[in-house]
Amino acid sequence: MKICSNCVLPETFPGISFDSKGVCNFCQEFKGKEYLEKEKAKYLQKFQELLGRFKNSSSYDALMAYSGGKDSTYTLSLLKEKYDLKILALTFDNGFLSEQAFKNIRQVVENLGVDHIFFKPDFSLLKKIFLTGTKDDIFSRKTLDRASTICTSCMGIVKFTTLRLALEKKIPFITYGWSPGQAPISASIFKNNPSMLKGMQNAIKEPLFRIAGEKINPYFLEERHFEQKEDFPYNISPLAFLEYAEEKIFKKIEKLSWNMPVDTDSNSTNCLLNSFANLVHKQRFGFHPYAFELAKLVREGYLEREEALKRLEQAEDQNTVELVKKKLNLN
Ligand SMILES: [Zn+2]
Repeated sequence: MKICSNCVLPETFPGISFDSKGVCNFCQEFKGKEYLEKEKAKYLQKFQELLGRFKNSSSYDALMAYSGGKDSTYTLSLLKEKYDLKILALTFDNGFLSEQAFKNIRQVVENLGVDHIFFKPDFSLLKKIFLTGTKDDIFSRKTLDRASTICTSCMGIVKFTTLRLALEKKIPFITYGWSPGQAPISASIFKNNPSMLKGMQNAIKEPLFRIAGEKINPYFLEERHFEQKEDFPYNISPLAFLEYAEEKIFKKIEKLSWNMPVDTDSNSTNCLLNSFANLVHKQRFGFHPYAFELAKLVREGYLEREEALKRLEQAEDQNTVELVKKKLNLN
């Protein structure tokens, strides 16, 4: 299979083309590291301005969507220790968190001294949604470029559950641990507004509603939330504009008693479902759902190309895949 000679995007990736040197159109469009550094400085300044305006304006400064993975653990530590924010961390238990991830989460929130909530929705409902995601493409074609259908449905519920809690608790910032490969710098800080959210919510909620009906309502915003007069929270992905180096991240979080799970795949440090979702996606579309993210990390100098290729080529752990299938009654 042909793969971009600069990043790691394969010829099966939607909308890809190559020049005579085998460099993909996404690499050709990249404005360069110098430009990126300037943008990062701009967003860091914006972040500091927002902290000045909103810090200490509510009982919590930030609601952290905390998966327990390496990037969100690192983000949580930065927000607490470097920026001294009052944080409420929220972990969504989709039924497939690795046992080590549970241990990590408990250790890290204790060591950092932050408030934390585990939220576990009715598993029969999630199961129905994940099972449909293994067979059907329930979301727009575009979403499949960057994540599997299963991941997108899970993350959709996470995003809107988090937003709902932030609105109800009047927390000014929602923070995510997206890597620079997942969050483009231009989307690393934005203010939510009702009309934009309605569109985003419909794109996720309507397909899920068709699968599971009204039972999904508690995970999304209701009319009263959209009508709320107060300010809507900002979404912030600090790793897009702060330093991002995996080696440093592991060094830091190990000090918080975070240990690498042994049962997850190389693209996730918390979720077992991920391996299965990746496998389904690859079989259906012929490219890895992490290809876009890893390609971006390579292009922007955060990750060695060889390492990215290794992660994309790594086969899913058969035991993990079997465990997931069993829990979804797919055997
Ligand atoms: Zn490329």
